[in-house]
Amino acid sequence: MIGCSCEVCKSQDHRNYRRRSSLYVVTEHQHILFDTPPDFRDQALRFGVKRIDAVFLTHAHADHIYGFDDVRRFSTMQEEHIPVFGSPRTIKQMRKKFDYVDRVSYGFESVPRVLFTGLVQPVYVENCKVTPLPVSHGTETIYGFLIEGDGKKMAYIPDCNGIPEESFQCLENLDAMILDGLRPQVHPTHFSISESVEQLDKIGARKSFITHLTHNSEHHDLQARLGDAVTVPWDGMEVSL
Ligand SMILES: [Zn+2]
Ligand SMILES: [Zn+2]
Ligand SMILES: [Zn+2]
Repeated sequence: MIGCSCEVCKSQDHRNYRRRSSLYVVTEHQHILFDTPPDFRDQALRFGVKRIDAVFLTHAHADHIYGFDDVRRFSTMQEEHIPVFGSPRTIKQMRKKFDYVDRVSYGFESVPRVLFTGLVQPVYVENCKVTPLPVSHGTETIYGFLIEGDGKKMAYIPDCNGIPEESFQCLENLDAMILDGLRPQVHPTHFSISESVEQLDKIGARKSFITHLTHNSEHHDLQARLGDAVTVPWDGMEVSL
């Protein structure tokens, strides 16, 4: 946290250094990025992201999109337009916030070359199926995503304080569930940690993770409190399903 000198912010343990939330899923043939936070460039460099076949955006809040311009490095390297999916509202907001992206007068390297697509139904990225899951985020309805590929099934819901029944029903028989658990105190637009743990328990995935953590949680303390049921992840953590 900028300007903070609490124990977590001063910690030398890399697990207490938290960039903004995102997820990189690698299947046998596909490399799929979920959200492009302001730290995206640093994340890509630090953790060796070398290819992106598709981008999915949960919503257009600043902490999830303002690294978007760096997608251009991938469209340049891959010499192709990269599909970018989000709700029709999110895509409309992206076109406004990144109004230069759709212009064609620049060279291929100057801007991210993407194909914006409003998504309301499941979509296949090759053999990987991604289903939008509408969830509550304060007064807004935004997306989480169900990801199915290589015979595995996982869901990613980083910003959320309520899961409607229709979306909850999609969270069956998951190999992994990653859910918003912002901080110990309640928040108007995010699940608190105890609310998140309660949801994760109900969902019952084979592996459960909380994400979007603030500096209010020290990694080891929180992991010790949560025990085996829920993993407290860290930046760069890799999980094989
Ligand atoms: Zn702090
Ligand atoms: Zn948000
Ligand atoms: Zn957020």
